[in-house]
Amino acid sequence: MAKQNFIGGAWSDAQSGATDKVVNPATGEVLDEVASSDAVDVDAAVAAARDAFVAWSATTPRQRAEALLKIADALEGDLETIQKLEIDNVGKPVSIIEFEMDLMVDNWRFFAGAARCMDAAAAGEYMEEHTSFLRRDPLGVVASIAPWNYPLGMATWKVGPALAAGNTVVLKPSELTPLSALRLAEVTADILPPGVLNVVTGQGETAGNALVTHADVAMVSLTGDVATGKLIAKAAADSLKRVHLELGGKAPVVVFDDADIEAVVANLTEGAYYNSGQDCTAPCRVLAGPKVHDGLVNGLTDAVKGIKTGDPHDPDVAMGPVVSSDQLERVTGMVDRARDAGAEITVGGAARSGAGFFYEPSVVVNPKQDAEIIQREVFGPVVTIQRFADDDQALAWANGVDYGLAASVWTRDVGRAMKMAARLQFGTVWINDHIPIVSELPHGGFKQSGYGKDMSIYAIEHYTELKHVMVKW
Ligand code: NAD
Repeated sequence: MAKQNFIGGAWSDAQSGATDKVVNPATGEVLDEVASSDAVDVDAAVAAARDAFVAWSATTPRQRAEALLKIADALEGDLETIQKLEIDNVGKPVSIIEFEMDLMVDNWRFFAGAARCMDAAAAGEYMEEHTSFLRRDPLGVVASIAPWNYPLGMATWKVGPALAAGNTVVLKPSELTPLSALRLAEVTADILPPGVLNVVTGQGETAGNALVTHADVAMVSLTGDVATGKLIAKAAADSLKRVHLELGGKAPVVVFDDADIEAVVANLTEGAYYNSGQDCTAPCRVLAGPKVHDGLVNGLTDAVKGIKTGDPHDPDVAMGPVVSSDQLERVTGMVDRARDAGAEITVGGAARSGAGFFYEPSVVVNPKQDAEIIQREVFGPVVTIQRFADDDQALAWANGVDYGLAASVWTRDVGRAMKMAARLQFGTVWINDHIPIVSELPHGGFKQSGYGKDMSIYAIEHYTELKHVMVKW
């Protein structure tokens, strides 16, 4: 039997009876079947969320924080099941899943605390004989639309701050990876009142679009592709819904001649191939100084040859498959076109034959700045390396893409690091590191990587409306 939607605290099939198959990318076999929802199911979920908003928005921050802390504890107690779902549905190796799960649970605990710490200007008499104060009110029903690369992690970034701020939610996970979102509904069913969190599975063009265009949805929060973000921003414009968009990335790794090259190679070997490179902040686009370029190419090529790929359940495996046959085709096509355009592939450069959607961890050297593989997100286990001539060219190439999510700078020169941090147009800039994230600090983009922040108090603020109340004496 297909797994059902969770609407108003009850489980139900899609009213049409339609289902979508869920595939294990390591084997290509069907793992499960879930409801393939359409506008009718979305309507029911939004109605349940709208009804639940009345009571949930009237809870105190302490009550919401207590509920979110219980959710964190319940998820922590359920990690064995959740991890298995993510490993089987996304192909994540068991060797890397712990970090992701730990962050996800900590995110819930952070949002619980942050619900009680919202900030605004002091109340006071800004006009004679009038007292003004500010409120941060929840918006209503939030549509949370999540991607497949960190299914429960990204759902947490959407749902946690929305609930903490007093909104109710309809969550639509990716059609490729809906299982952990349904488990979230199961785990929280006894903690949250019915209708506060609803989960509707289905395709983007049907279930997703019905949510985005629904008159009773106050805000849409998407983590996904740039093209999907543009579609959603356009669709939401008709009713002027608030939109929160966390879109793709093409993170530059700017390595100056005075950098610690061993540290760069170690960071890339782990970070660039983590989750098969399906990470919007992955250090995928190396810009190397003229003196360190060749050493970096050789060092990374050797290190990448040692990355063990294969069965995600094997504890020695560092990299699993990519998420789908479409994704495998996309990665293969981009690397093939880079090779045809004259880039050198020093390691990898091909899909693995046999079952599952595996691509070899790869290094692509010397593509041109205007090449597709530099300008477009690969979202696979592929690192490009370009040689820059001087600091100005490094900065111009780093900023010379449509994306602006994350970047790193590697140098021992503090002044140069500060100058680059100020001038790089990316939402996160790491110095002498790349990838670490923490719940307290914001994650989000410049340019076509979207707007609105995930994690941190700034995320919660985005799920509220600032209201001025002025009282005449
Ligand atoms: P996607 O855009 O294809 O899908 C994301 C979600 O949007 C899915 O749930 C999908 O069903 C839904 N969707 C698709 N079309 C829709 C429509 N017309 N209306 C409403 N919903 C629709 O993205 P994906 O392939 O699942 O995820 C990978 C992308 O996500 C990459 O580009 C990656 O960079 C990005 N991403 C960004 C961040 C970030 O924080 N910036 C984090 C993770 C992933």
